[in-house]
Amino acid sequence: MSLHLSWVDSANLARSDFPLNNLPCGVFSHGPEDPRCGMAIGDFVLDLTALEEEGLLTLTGGPYLDVPFWNEVMEAGPDIWADLRAQVTAHLAKGAPTRAAIEPHLLPLGAVTLHLPFLVSEYTDFYSGKHHAMNVGTMMRGAENALPPNWLHIPIGYNGRASSVVVSGTPVRRPWGQVKGPDHAVPAFQPSRRFDIELELGAVVGQGSTLGRPVTVEEADAMIFGFVLLNDWSARDIQGWEYQPLGPFQAKATATTISPWIVMTAALEAHRTSTPEREKPLLPYLHEPRPMLFDIELEVALAPMGQPETVIARTNYKEMYYSAAQQLAHHTTSGCAMNVGDLLGSGTISGPQKGNRGSLMELSWGGKEPFEVAGGTRSFIEDNDTLTLRGYARGDGFKIGFGACVGQVIPALADPYARKK
Ligand code: MN
Repeated sequence: MSLHLSWVDSANLARSDFPLNNLPCGVFSHGPEDPRCGMAIGDFVLDLTALEEEGLLTLTGGPYLDVPFWNEVMEAGPDIWADLRAQVTAHLAKGAPTRAAIEPHLLPLGAVTLHLPFLVSEYTDFYSGKHHAMNVGTMMRGAENALPPNWLHIPIGYNGRASSVVVSGTPVRRPWGQVKGPDHAVPAFQPSRRFDIELELGAVVGQGSTLGRPVTVEEADAMIFGFVLLNDWSARDIQGWEYQPLGPFQAKATATTISPWIVMTAALEAHRTSTPEREKPLLPYLHEPRPMLFDIELEVALAPMGQPETVIARTNYKEMYYSAAQQLAHHTTSGCAMNVGDLLGSGTISGPQKGNRGSLMELSWGGKEPFEVAGGTRSFIEDNDTLTLRGYARGDGFKIGFGACVGQVIPALADPYARKK
């Protein structure tokens, strides 16, 4: 696919995350004004709430953009999603006759604050990266038993917390929790010493399903409005003590950071790719009828306070063993209803090589092999480190970018139970 040229010159530059082909959905505020909906274009955000108010965007059944979240657009359905993209594309295309009316509604990205782009209904996190599952399993149980027996048959996951999903830029405080080392007889309550990231993609569910009615993989694919970068912060020492037999709980509940822009599935269509070859046949309900994974290049950078960042991992979303559509379809097999605004984490995305590992635990092999960053070495995150995820699908001379997903880890509270008198 070729670049669609815009009269917003910065959108046509190869460095831009936001060419006209992208048009990702966000929520922004400017100074003291209330947050509103916008789409990123080049170095700007286009105020769609204003466009709809002024009649420059007319969507059947609207208004949808008079609220500071994208859930109402999502609920309106795929025809409205397509119509919205078509209208905004026409307004921003090179030579658009409406340019004079649209241009006053562009704000420089540097002048706005970005907020969570949608109300997160619920958050489920999967474990669908085979390289990650192999690495973690090998550390925990040895190479022979690395993959759990269900892994090649089910996209396994756990129900996480929507309440701690935060937008990029939100500081993340190192959590306290219950931990027990192998040499200790009893657990202790202390700040996590093995705080980590997980590089993931988040699928944003834009259409709900009915309680009691499972959806097919094909239906699931059409329900996904778009994707965000997702950092599933993880306290490995808390996880190691608490996770059996019901899976992670407080280890994963501190925070989940997402990038501020939802890249619509429509913007990624040209980048579809199939899941890797099956090692064991899947049950029919999980068959992928056509390519449902996406070729999205990903990286993680770590910057200690006062130091430049070091890219510590590079990988690709196409490494996943299960697509988001397969995960979503599996999620409904029980009859569980999915809601507009559900967020599905892919699972940590690691690749086959050491430099492709999407968590510090894998990169440092459980702390046994510290790696170098500017100004020091790391096994796990240290206080005041900033972690940045980036991702983009590569077009011919342009990219469909996600913007950055950033979080700085700030020191644990001195006493989490201290109360002001
Ligand atoms: Mn995860």
